[in-house]
Amino acid sequence: MTPTLLAEAPPAKKQEAPPRVSALRCGRLLDVRTGTLREGAIVVVRGDRIEEVLERGAKLPEGVSLIDLSAFTVLPGLVDAHTHTFLQPGDYDVQLLKQSLPRRTLQAAAQARALLVAGFTTIRDLETEGAMFGDADLRDAIADGLVAGPRMQVATRAISTTGNYALLGYAHEVAVPKGVQIADGPWEIRKAVREQIENGADWIKFYGDYRTFLPTGEILDLRVTMTQEEMDALVDEAARRHRPAAAHCYGNDAARAAIRAGVRSVEHGLFLDETTFKMMLDKGVYYCPTLTAYRTSYDATPTPAWKKVVDAHRDAFQRALRMKLKIASGSDAGDFPPENAARELELMVDYGLPPLKAIQAATLVDAELLGWQDRIGAVEPGKMADLIAVEGNPVQDISALRRVRFVMKGGEAFLSPPAVTNSSF
Ligand SMILES: [Zn+2]
Repeated sequence: MTPTLLAEAPPAKKQEAPPRVSALRCGRLLDVRTGTLREGAIVVVRGDRIEEVLERGAKLPEGVSLIDLSAFTVLPGLVDAHTHTFLQPGDYDVQLLKQSLPRRTLQAAAQARALLVAGFTTIRDLETEGAMFGDADLRDAIADGLVAGPRMQVATRAISTTGNYALLGYAHEVAVPKGVQIADGPWEIRKAVREQIENGADWIKFYGDYRTFLPTGEILDLRVTMTQEEMDALVDEAARRHRPAAAHCYGNDAARAAIRAGVRSVEHGLFLDETTFKMMLDKGVYYCPTLTAYRTSYDATPTPAWKKVVDAHRDAFQRALRMKLKIASGSDAGDFPPENAARELELMVDYGLPPLKAIQAATLVDAELLGWQDRIGAVEPGKMADLIAVEGNPVQDISALRRVRFVMKGGEAFLSPPAVTNSSF
């Protein structure tokens, strides 16, 4: 049952054409707020929005085109709140030194399309890793229908301080590109924030700490990159332009400074303790653990040192669960192939989150994190028509999210449902 790719991009919208109306006949429709499965529900889509949800057997509006998803479970399109479409698995230095920006942009477009086909209709892309402001262009090209991909919020270059981001280790007289924008001191940082916003940043992402890994996975050093004054300046400048900030933090020192500064989300948080999580709870900060990135590294290099990292990460995640943090779903896709992005939900379940809660993380919670809770994250009248159909029941078996058979974004179908001969329902 190989799904057929319908189109690389939706056709250009004609102003005068009446909105297309389609009806999606669902095997079952998952209400992500309650976990209820509505057998035989029909989702009516007009233009790019969901118009209504009808019960089985209801009379359809005139002139609709019917999409038969009766063999599948239908749910809202997923969100991945931490991706790097401009990053590929493999040698980081080679990507920055040997691949041109046009080449990297084309690869990013391919990654964006792969994420969409995997069921992710929205992503927060958290820095281009040296590819400048290309993510803002990709976001806009997708929105304009030039290429197929998820809706995007982007961070452009991210910010760190001198000596605290790759490329590192080259002869001092050789000028090499950096994977982020380097800025030191409150005023350089404010200027970097202003430049990034001028060039399209929806988020300001920064490195609260930066680590050096040994090849075996042992963390050699974990250092806080910015002073409190620098982080305060960064978040304040972003807020002045109504942009939220996301902080990459492995450890408590960086995370606490970032939380004090006022970030909206802490990324990774491998070693966060109860005190840090309590601060996050008090300020409503989201925790985006990106479990997949580290588990993927451990799978590739299963050393005792990497095991320590993933064990600590699992402990932090379970601590966050017990303390009822707002847990967002983001995978760090780009560090690994995007078709594995749904592994993040599997790992959350593996570590103790009930499947419905994992689905909520990748729909309702991520939508809130992005400030788009009125547009996406649930199949409800008035929301964007972002829907996926999967084989099986993801509330019982989260791995069903690996079996995406239909994707619609903003009313445009990007995967056609395969013809079904013997329904599993
Ligand atoms: Zn990342």
